[in-house]
Amino acid sequence: MSDILVYVLHYEGKLNKNSLGAVSEGARLAAELGGQCHAVVVGSDDLTDALCATVGDWGATKCFRAKGPEGLAQPVVDVMAKVIDDNGHAYALFGGGLLGFEIGAGLAARKHAGVTMEVTAVRAENGELIAERPILQDSQISESRYRGGLGVIIARLNAFEPKQTGGTAEVVDVDVEYSPWSTRATMIGRGEQRGEDINIEDADVLIAGGRGLGAAEGFKLAEDLAAAMGGAVAATRAVVDAGWYPYSTQIGQTGKTVAPKLYLAAGISGAIQHKVGMQGSENIVAINKDANAPIFEFCDLGIVGDLNKILPKLTEAVKAKKAG
Ligand SMILES: Cc1cc2nc3c(=O)[nH]c(=O)nc-3n(C[C@H](O)[C@H](O)[C@H](O)COP(=O)(O)OP(=O)(O)OC[C@H]3O[C@@H](n4cnc5c(N)ncnc54)[C@H](O)[C@@H]3O)c2cc1C
Repeated sequence: MSDILVYVLHYEGKLNKNSLGAVSEGARLAAELGGQCHAVVVGSDDLTDALCATVGDWGATKCFRAKGPEGLAQPVVDVMAKVIDDNGHAYALFGGGLLGFEIGAGLAARKHAGVTMEVTAVRAENGELIAERPILQDSQISESRYRGGLGVIIARLNAFEPKQTGGTAEVVDVDVEYSPWSTRATMIGRGEQRGEDINIEDADVLIAGGRGLGAAEGFKLAEDLAAAMGGAVAATRAVVDAGWYPYSTQIGQTGKTVAPKLYLAAGISGAIQHKVGMQGSENIVAINKDANAPIFEFCDLGIVGDLNKILPKLTEAVKAKKAG
């Protein structure tokens, strides 16, 4: 068998963009292997037939649906292990994110499967999948092949672009007897720590602030520009460690990986640990008062100057343009 099973995360009746990117990629790869891409969802009443069938729009032919707690890893491991045992999938693919890492790792342990994390590209070659993962601070690419019955591939966030095809998927209900340890944890709440309704990983525009903003209050400049542009605010680790902005907004090696259309870095030096989390952005604009800041080596547009003067003017200019 050369079918691929993709876990699709959902929240408040909406399917997750990274998961749908993984479905699109799974469909592309499965076609090359001569198999099919299937999605798996776990949740309760908000997983309607109509919602589950929409995964077909991204290329999945079936959607396996199990009743269970959404947002916890172990129940999903139980469901995926059963679906794979019953249907013989050759690969499990995840769109990334903390939950994807946890489920993928749990599934690999359960099924004694090989696992590759932080994957940025996958290709089909001679009837098998080869996963590419950047290593050594993204300076080299390592390739993983899989032995045995199952290969687990966990992507870096935003590695795969969702592509709509116009199809619908067959919805297949799965009965799963959860392991005792899978039902011990209870979800008591979900949500972004920021308290904003814009998801930082899905935002097309990110205004990222670094230590150059000077203090927590300095983030008002970034927030104003983000509001004017319809984007979200991100931060460096130096900033979140200082308590200026929430940890959930941290971009980089030990934070989130993003790839928006525009990443505007204000007062960010461009350390390698920050760069690895945002270098996939389509356009990188940097404002820094130090012309020798490393960020100028990899940005598309660099502005040498004081952000305290530039950001408010930029915000006003965006507002004026929108008003006109
Ligand atoms: C194991 C490890 C993991 C790490 N993980 C991460 C991570 O995930 N994410 C991350 O971001 N970092 C991470 N770091 C930290 C990283 O090495 C840098 O220290 C951090 O990214 C620097 O943040 P910064 O750019 O905000 O601050 P700084 O390096 O202090 O840069 C501030 C910049 O602002 C500029 N500036 C100052 N005032 C102004 C002004 N008025 N106008 C314009 N520009 C101004 C300065 O010229 C300077 O370039 C990690 C480090 C380690 C060791």
